[in-house]
Amino acid sequence: MRWLVGVDVGGTQIKMGVVSARGTVLAHRVLPTRLYATPAALVEGLGSAIEELRELHGLPRASWQGVGVGLPGLVDQSRGVVHQLVNLPGRWRGIPFGSWLARRLRCRCVIDNDANMVAVGEWRAGAGRGTAHGVYLTLGTGVGGGIVSHGRLVRGATGSAGEAGHMVIAPGGPRCACGARGCLEAYVSTAAILRQARAAMRRGSAILRACATEAGGLTPAVVSDAAARGDAAARRIWRDLGERLGVAVANLVNLLNPERVVIGGGVSNAWPWFAPSLRAEVRRQAFELPARTVRIVKGQLGERAGILGAAYVLMDTGDP
Ligand SMILES: [Zn+2]
Repeated sequence: MRWLVGVDVGGTQIKMGVVSARGTVLAHRVLPTRLYATPAALVEGLGSAIEELRELHGLPRASWQGVGVGLPGLVDQSRGVVHQLVNLPGRWRGIPFGSWLARRLRCRCVIDNDANMVAVGEWRAGAGRGTAHGVYLTLGTGVGGGIVSHGRLVRGATGSAGEAGHMVIAPGGPRCACGARGCLEAYVSTAAILRQARAAMRRGSAILRACATEAGGLTPAVVSDAAARGDAAARRIWRDLGERLGVAVANLVNLLNPERVVIGGGVSNAWPWFAPSLRAEVRRQAFELPARTVRIVKGQLGERAGILGAAYVLMDTGDP
């Protein structure tokens, strides 16, 4: 049986999985990203973790097809080079990560932007299956995007296309991690949600405070629980998030005329609380025909999306 490894490197966690050539995740492992302080340390860390995974599951080297890795930044997939990566420690400018990892593991390696990997995963095996035109947004620590047009992932001139999180939706708005102001990410990232939740707790939101105490800390899942238990401030946070996201999605719907917009990532678990205002905003802002055509849905693959997508991108690039 042929097998591959898909890796999804996030700002907090690294998820990796052994994937069969038919797209089934056979084994799965999670590592904390903070263990690796430099690109070279990450290569070494991934290398030993993948070898351990292979030995643990008795997978023969001869049938190993290679490794696909999604990284949270600007990646030139065709050259295997990372241009810019702001959410990981170390200096990442111009790092030939693909060839470093290939040398470490003595196998074929493909790298791409993490949100592109998630997009390919959902497109091929999840909520975007069967479509040729789709927009895929990943909401989490950062906000990533991937665009499929005419049945192909759109990469652009230097591989950085699809950075929907850095569409400016409010000029002069709050400062974003990228340095610009008023990006979508500055309104809907985990940090933005938690900032609003803390402000609501200071104003005396009792249910939200109780949920945070029970959970031992504040997370987007806690804000979602508080909304489910009737906290008005928590519901307002999600409604506002849906509206902001809706502005960006309306722009993307007008620009790209997708059949489907798929919203994934950890924050998408609060879907019931922000989907209504998201859809309403798209109907309000976008042209009527594309707004009526598009289906706006939650991602189906959860944490597996990035792993599977990385495996599919590797399969699609074929043998050298
Ligand atoms: Zn930005």
